Amino acid sequence: MTVMHTNTLPTATDLRDRVRVALQAIGADARLEAPNQPGLPAGSPISGNVLFTVPEHTAADTEEAIAAAAAAFLDWRTTPAPVRGALVARLGELLTEHKSDLATLVTVEAGKITSEALGEVQEMIDICQFAVGLSRQLYGKTIASERPGHRLMETWHPVGVVGVITAFNFPVAVWAWNTAIALVCGDTVVWKPSELTPLTAIACQALIERACADVGAPPEVSRLVQGGREIGEKLVDDPRVALVSATGSVRMGREVGPRVAARFGKALLELGGNNAAIVTPSADLDLAVRAIVFSAAGTAGQRCTTLRRVIAHTSIAEELCRRVAAAYASLPIGDPSTEGNLVGPLIHARAYRDMVGALEAARADGGEVIGGHRHDVGDEGAYYVSPALVRMPAQTEVVHHETFAPILYVLTYEDLDSAIELNNAVPQGLSSAIFTTDIREAERFMAADGSDCGIANVNIGTSGAEIGGAFGGEKQTGGGRESGSDSWKAYMRRATNTVNYSGELPLAQGVRFG
Ligand code: NAD
Repeated sequence: MTVMHTNTLPTATDLRDRVRVALQAIGADARLEAPNQPGLPAGSPISGNVLFTVPEHTAADTEEAIAAAAAAFLDWRTTPAPVRGALVARLGELLTEHKSDLATLVTVEAGKITSEALGEVQEMIDICQFAVGLSRQLYGKTIASERPGHRLMETWHPVGVVGVITAFNFPVAVWAWNTAIALVCGDTVVWKPSELTPLTAIACQALIERACADVGAPPEVSRLVQGGREIGEKLVDDPRVALVSATGSVRMGREVGPRVAARFGKALLELGGNNAAIVTPSADLDLAVRAIVFSAAGTAGQRCTTLRRVIAHTSIAEELCRRVAAAYASLPIGDPSTEGNLVGPLIHARAYRDMVGALEAARADGGEVIGGHRHDVGDEGAYYVSPALVRMPAQTEVVHHETFAPILYVLTYEDLDSAIELNNAVPQGLSSAIFTTDIREAERFMAADGSDCGIANVNIGTSGAEIGGAFGGEKQTGGGRESGSDSWKAYMRRATNTVNYSGELPLAQGVRFG
């Protein structure tokens, strides 16, 4: 397979300059030391180099940040929601102003192509707009009481400090999903970003601090702590952190969930996916191929919603594979900041090793692998790969795992029931799709006995969700919902209020006492 790619990559010096310019434009006063100094290494998968060392927070710093956010909560919770919304509105304006600066940092740190990095920042702007509207719409129900002269209702209150732990692959949007909603709900936030993306976190923190200053909100409503999992664990174990919203691997969720539950805290888990698309005989193949290629190869297969499995009807499987393989062969791979490239680098060497290991396992299970090789771009530390298409005889063990790399397994089916069974037969339950022009198949896929995922799309790929809907998945994906719809309820606590405005004291269920 021939794949076009750029051989020239920006140098570490060039990437450092881009970071400095972007941070300066954003107004982030960052202490950027040379690599190999004590602190947190800030690198780029584009060249595979460590660019800077940035300050790393200690357990004591984290303690202080939680205490400050807990203290700020005491006033923030009674600040009127539309006033809280004004802070998020200002954050949205600043994000709009600095969209390309922040996108530059996302590209440098996470390796996303420019268009996807800009899209990620746009998602932040969108969620700010959503949250500002929400700040005037937080509502509770009034329910018919069985007793005369009584009013029964629900009120919603902020929960307290929200600990936000995020993954490398959406270094800024997931913070914004959580923070914009949490702030209008009256919560305060302590954010622990991925240790792989500290520069984008510094930029986001500078913007929220400026937004706070501009509207007169206390900066303690949103704090940042940088470090590895041990800093995340401080948030997980601290009883002042009422809600832990953690995005990352199933492995991480398996550790975080029980620890938060053990102290009766609330957890919102957004974990790994293993997303499939069923392609039926009636599918519009042109549309399906375009959607499949974007979902499977976009972000170099490093989205939680990346398409990892195609379940194709036997009658169209050959044709579909031929077309996807042809599209893969023409995908420009290389420096994600170069216009025209569509596939950037893997995040690090471990991601590449995981990909190689999964492809070996797939071959051992009888899989036929097309693509999946590393490109020599002249730098040992950078990992550029061509996306792999793997025709599998069955959904074997390796297919049940999320390998965070561009591997698309192709399976076949004869009848829709068995296709849905294959879709659901993995431990994760994030996103899914069906390509069909048959309304009965589409409806069946979305019905109670259809896809068991949190996202079930028709004639759209598995990735690229809009912020208006609730986002999240079932089973090992963790069950959390973030972003739109009524996901805000996860950031609030509910009180049921019964008000007796009669002069009598009737008891519920007709109970008599006295
Ligand atoms: P990761 O699990 O390695 O790390 C995620 C975050 O958790 C990091 O900030 C890390 O420091 C922290 N962490 C790890 N162990 C911890 C612990 N025991 N206690 C507290 N914090 C801990 O994930 P990653 O490699 O950065 O990201 C890729 C994974 O994230 C993939 O599995 C992907 O599917 C998933 N993801 C899911 C969603 C979603 O919304 N469902 C979104 C983005 C990414």
